[in-house]
Amino acid sequence: MFFYWDWTYLLIIPGLLLGLWAQHKVRSTYAEYSRVGTRLGQPASKVVNDLLHRNGNRAVSIGQVSGELTDHYNPASETLNLSQGVYGSASIAALGIAAHEAGHAMQKHDGYMPLKLRTAIVPAVNICSSLSTPLFFLGLLFAWEPLTTIGILLFAASTVFALVTLPVEFDASRRAVNMLADGGYVTGEEVRGVRKVLNAAALTYVAAAVTSLLSLLRLVLLARRRRD
Ligand SMILES: [Zn+2]
Repeated sequence: MFFYWDWTYLLIIPGLLLGLWAQHKVRSTYAEYSRVGTRLGQPASKVVNDLLHRNGNRAVSIGQVSGELTDHYNPASETLNLSQGVYGSASIAALGIAAHEAGHAMQKHDGYMPLKLRTAIVPAVNICSSLSTPLFFLGLLFAWEPLTTIGILLFAASTVFALVTLPVEFDASRRAVNMLADGGYVTGEEVRGVRKVLNAAALTYVAAAVTSLLSLLRLVLLARRRRD
């Protein structure tokens, strides 16, 4: 039997649960703090533009993108797109999210190494992760060890990506809080709110890294058991 139930499936569950919890936490924290405005009352699109200019970065063009929580910064094109709910909003959540993306833009501006590394490995990782699982299970099916090993190594590349993402995301959030607080865009209790929103978002990346590590462990265990 090839697709038998085995206990290694259980390894995946903690990662999945953590991921679901992180998703819930992001949505609820975002909903809570998008209802709380800042004293300054400036929209996120203006604040993010100010933050970048104040920090000597004039290379970024700021735009708008459809969807909820779809905000992102593209280092290749130096574009920073804010979602509809964030762009014109002066809420704590909007400022936190926009400043986080500005944090990524500042990473590029400063030549921050982990961002360079992540950007460089993205294309390779995409290929590796789509090939890894099929090759691994073909290797198991035909009991051909080199193929299972290749599958594991390719999967490990996507785990490395998930791990490299962590310092990049934590650093962007740290920069976001500092830039907002230093510029006086948020003060006192507002800073705490920004931190809560960004910590919730960071949790989704932690969940992804944990899931990836556990999945890698599962492949290693399956391969070892087949060999024994
Ligand atoms: Zn980010």
